[in-house]
Amino acid sequence: MGKNLTSRSEDYSKWYNELVVKADLAENSAVRGCMVIKPYGYAIWEKMQAELDRMFKETGHQNAYFPLFVPKSLFEAEEKNAEGFAKECAVVTHYRLQNDPDNPGKLRVDPEAKLEEELVVRPTSEAIIWNTYKGWIQSYRDLPLLINQWANVVRWEMRTRLFLRTAEFLWQEGHTAHSTKKEAIAEAEQMNDIYAEFAQNFMAIPVVKGLKTESERFAGADETYCIEALMQDGKALQAGTSHFLGQNFAKAFDVKFTSKEGKQEYVWATSWGVSTRLMGALIMTHSDDKGLVLPPNLAPNQVVIVPIFKTEDQFDEITNVVTPLMKTLRSKGVTVKYDKRDTLRPGAKFAQHELQGVPLRIAIGARDLENGTVELARRDTLTKEIATLEGIEDKVVALLKEIQSSLYDRALEYKNTHTTKVDTFEEFKNVLETKGGFVSAHWDGTIETEDKIKEITKATIRCVPLDSENEEGKCVFTGNISLKRVLFAKAY
Ligand code: AMP
Repeated sequence: MGKNLTSRSEDYSKWYNELVVKADLAENSAVRGCMVIKPYGYAIWEKMQAELDRMFKETGHQNAYFPLFVPKSLFEAEEKNAEGFAKECAVVTHYRLQNDPDNPGKLRVDPEAKLEEELVVRPTSEAIIWNTYKGWIQSYRDLPLLINQWANVVRWEMRTRLFLRTAEFLWQEGHTAHSTKKEAIAEAEQMNDIYAEFAQNFMAIPVVKGLKTESERFAGADETYCIEALMQDGKALQAGTSHFLGQNFAKAFDVKFTSKEGKQEYVWATSWGVSTRLMGALIMTHSDDKGLVLPPNLAPNQVVIVPIFKTEDQFDEITNVVTPLMKTLRSKGVTVKYDKRDTLRPGAKFAQHELQGVPLRIAIGARDLENGTVELARRDTLTKEIATLEGIEDKVVALLKEIQSSLYDRALEYKNTHTTKVDTFEEFKNVLETKGGFVSAHWDGTIETEDKIKEITKATIRCVPLDSENEEGKCVFTGNISLKRVLFAKAY
């Protein structure tokens, strides 16, 4: 399996990059900033997709698909959105290559094949979708329109990291249309709640639900809800966003409906998304110096069974026990893999499964068969025990549950102990330097103060937590009046 990972304390960011590659999740590609998601990483993403898709459908959403390209004239229709994304856009200008007369064997863009209108590769799909909705929405009877799309988008990011920030990424983007402001806000809140629930129950990641400040808001939104998570190195990660778009896109694309009262009104909108960045959040929340640690709900294989044998006969005997065991485990909803490769020694298999974060490992050897036992190893605690073969299925099911909840508890404990209230700027800087994490502080509500704090400390306002109580205080930087605490952190 090659040499050990760099430890987290030695170099967290190196540890992360090595882990992603060695655990076979993803790798860099020939395209700058774009990654190849490998089968094992993709299997985890598919599990995330399946659960989110289920939650979206349960709340009445349907999937559809819109084009990758957005004609520039549509892209620029909603000015704020266009301005916000302009710097990160890849643009298609030509539709044909030809042999380069000056460079035999090379191709060049055919100057004759210039597009009449340039096409923006979608960085997000509000424009193309709202242009389409214009044809779909006439009356209040057409509302609400609840659509989600699973797609790739391109944002020409300058500093990229596998999963966390790539130039092309996979995501889902929900785009909904409503007849009232109230309903649209309720939708944006509902989807943010769904993200939080998913993060907590499936990814075992505790999150803070909040609102973005104006400067961190999605370009073209009236309000951006978000879930923020805390990574093991004390840095925050925006794990999902849900936007209340007001009537901005309806006005830009002239999408009106006839209300029950017979009046023509602009439609209200939301959009919401989570991306392959969630993979980064998963890795950086739970994993350790030995590799990936996966919560059972997202592990492609929850259990792996490794036979330990010297002779063919022993292998057959073990397999005779393993086959029915796998069947029972599967009937109980457990995903299990029998690692019977004869090209690797058991020790090497153990190391690989540890690196890849398989929650439970069962090893069965010849002596176990005599004793009616197995060796059970937990990835999260790295503990081992001898268990009786009889009743092992129920034990496995119970253990998987326990692992799922103990990973969450551990992450919650970290988040709680790394959320610090401060009342002076000295404390603020000190906490950021010494332990990191979320810093809960009063802020005077101005962009200038937010900018200055960022300039001095590199910390940004991650969100105004939805559950933060009104509490009169003084801005940690200017001393001006503040009515609420907000959460600051250095972020990915
Ligand atoms: P946004 O449309 O900017 O609100 O982003 C939607 C979701 O995509 C959020 O959860 C972001 O964290 C995530 N995201 C934004 N940019 C990137 C990127 N370059 N790579 C991966 N995920 C991203």
